[in-house]
Amino acid sequence: MHGIPVSGGIAIGYAHLLSHARLEVAHYAVPQYQIAEESARFDAALKTVRAELQGLRKQIPPTAPQEIEAFLNLHLMILDDATLSKAPRQIIETEQCNAEWALKVQADALLDQFDQIEDGYLRERKADVIQVVERLLKALLGQPGYTPPPAMGGEESLILVAHDLSPADVIQFKEHLFASFITDLGGATSHTAIVARSLNIPSIVALHQARQLIRENELLIVDGTLGMIIVDPDPQALAEYKLRQHQWELERQKLKRLRDTRATTLDRIEVDLQANIELPDDVEEVMENGATGIGLFRTEFLFLNRDDLPDEDEQFEAYRKVVREMDGLPVTIRTYDLGADKQINGNEISSTNPALGLRAIRLSLTEPQMFLVQLRAMLRASHYGNLKILIPMLMSASEINQVLNYVAQAKQGLEDRYVPYDRGVEVGGMIEIPAAALAVNTFIKKLDFLSIGTNDLIQYTLAIDRTDDTVSHLYDPLHPAVLTLVAQIIKTCNKAGKPIALCGEMAGDVALTRLLLGFGLRQLSMHPARLLEVKQQVLKSNLREIAPQVSKMLRAGDPDKLRAMLARLNA
Ligand code: PEP
Ligand code: MG
Repeated sequence: MHGIPVSGGIAIGYAHLLSHARLEVAHYAVPQYQIAEESARFDAALKTVRAELQGLRKQIPPTAPQEIEAFLNLHLMILDDATLSKAPRQIIETEQCNAEWALKVQADALLDQFDQIEDGYLRERKADVIQVVERLLKALLGQPGYTPPPAMGGEESLILVAHDLSPADVIQFKEHLFASFITDLGGATSHTAIVARSLNIPSIVALHQARQLIRENELLIVDGTLGMIIVDPDPQALAEYKLRQHQWELERQKLKRLRDTRATTLDRIEVDLQANIELPDDVEEVMENGATGIGLFRTEFLFLNRDDLPDEDEQFEAYRKVVREMDGLPVTIRTYDLGADKQINGNEISSTNPALGLRAIRLSLTEPQMFLVQLRAMLRASHYGNLKILIPMLMSASEINQVLNYVAQAKQGLEDRYVPYDRGVEVGGMIEIPAAALAVNTFIKKLDFLSIGTNDLIQYTLAIDRTDDTVSHLYDPLHPAVLTLVAQIIKTCNKAGKPIALCGEMAGDVALTRLLLGFGLRQLSMHPARLLEVKQQVLKSNLREIAPQVSKMLRAGDPDKLRAMLARLNA
C-alpha cells in the first residue's frame, strides 16, 4: 500500500489497529462455529452492566441529589434500547467479528447520528451513550471468555494503524515507544502528520484503506521514506528490509557526528538551524541534534487532552523550563494556535470551513483574558533566558496593533505585581496567509522579526485543506505562486534588515534547502530529527553557485522544468 511519507526510516512490526482513542478495541474474525458463543458473550456483558447500574441505583444515599437516580435510569434505558442491546449481535453474525468490534461499529454509527441532532439537550446525551458503551466494553474485556489477540512482544514492535486521529490523540503517543504510526487520512503537513513526525518513528499518512484491510497482529514493513507498507511480507522481503533498516541506523549514527559542527556553506555563509517543538520535554531531542535555538514552540499542545485550561503559573513553568534548558539560546514561543483541527476539549468543530475560521490569533483576540494569561506567562519566563513571542496567522495591521496593546497590558500587569520580565522581549509574527505575504511591509514596520509558516501559506495560496487527504496530492511547495511568495518575503525582509525565518515543513525538506538558501534565507526551523540532514546539505552547498540557478528557477513557470532544475541544483 502506498501513502504520503511523513517520517523516514524502516519499521518492522505487528499491526495494532486503533480507533478513536476513547473507544479503542481490537478487531478480529470469529469463525462461524463460534458465533453463537460470541453473541452469548455480548449478552452476558449486557447482563453484567444492567446488574451494575441497578446495583448503583439501590445504593444511592438518601442525601444524594435527585438527578443521580434520573441519570442511572437514563443509562439503563440507553442500555436496553435495541440500538445497543440488539444491533451489535446482528453485526457479530453478519460480519463474523468479535463482540467488542461489533459494539464499536454500532456505537460509532449511533454517535454520528447524535452529531446531526439539532436539539441541544438531546445532542448532549451523546456523552451518556459513550459512558454506557464504555461500561459495556469494560464488561466485555473483563470477561473470563475474552481471549485478547496474542501479544507480539512489547510496544517497540507495534505498528499503530489508524483511520484518522486528531493531533490531540497523536500527541499522547509521545509517552510510548511504538515502532511506527500509519493512518488512512491526513495530508503531509496536517497537524496530525506533524505530531506523528515528532514521534520520531517511521510514519505514513493517506494510506486510504489500511485500517480496513490490515488485521490485528499482521506483520508489516513500513518504509517511512518511500511512504510504502508491505503487509505480511515473504522471508526474502523481510531479510532485505532488515538490511535496509540496519543501513538507515548506520546513516543516522554517522549524521550524529555533525551535532556540534557549525552550519556553514562552502563559501562560509552561516546558517542558523533551529528546531520546532510541541512540548517542553522535546528540548532533549533539540539538544541532541545541535539546534541553535527553538524557532517554533507550538504551545497549543499544552491546552489539549484536558478538561481545564492551563493557568498562568502552569504555563510559566512550562515556558521557563524550555528557556532555562536552552541556556541562553533563542526560544521562540508561539501564542496558542487553537481552533480548526486543534480544538480545546469539549469544543466541537462547528464552522463549515474551520481552517478559514476562528483560529490562532483570531481566537486569541476574541478571548482576551485567556490571551493575557498566556502573554503574562511568557513575559515572566522571559526573565530566565532568551525568549521571543511569536504570533500565528496575522493578517492585518489592526490585528498587530491589538496584539501589541495586549502585550503592553500584560507587561503592565506584571509591573503592578513587581514581577520581573525582559523589557526588550521581541514580538514577531508568522507570515502564513497570502494577504500577509503580499503586504509584508506592514508587518516589517510593526514587528521585531517574522517567520514564514509555509504549511498554512501553501494551504491558503493553493486553496487546499491541509487535513484533507483527497486533495493532498495537489499540495505543492514548488508551485510557482508559492515560490514567488516565499522568495519575495525573504527578499523584502533582507532588504529592510528584518530577521526572517522559515518554520513550516519546507524547512526540514532537504531537497529544498539549497533553493531556500538561494532565496536569501539564513534561518530555518524544523523538526529536530530533520536537522542534521539539512545541516549536511548546508555544509555541501556553495551559495555563489546556487544563487544564479535559483533566480532562473523563479522565472520558470513550467512545473516539470522546475523539478528538473531543482534536481540539477541538488546534484
Ligand atoms: C505553518 O503553518 O507552516 C506552521 C509552521 O504552523 P503550523 O504548522 O503549526 O500551522
Ligand atoms: Mg501555521
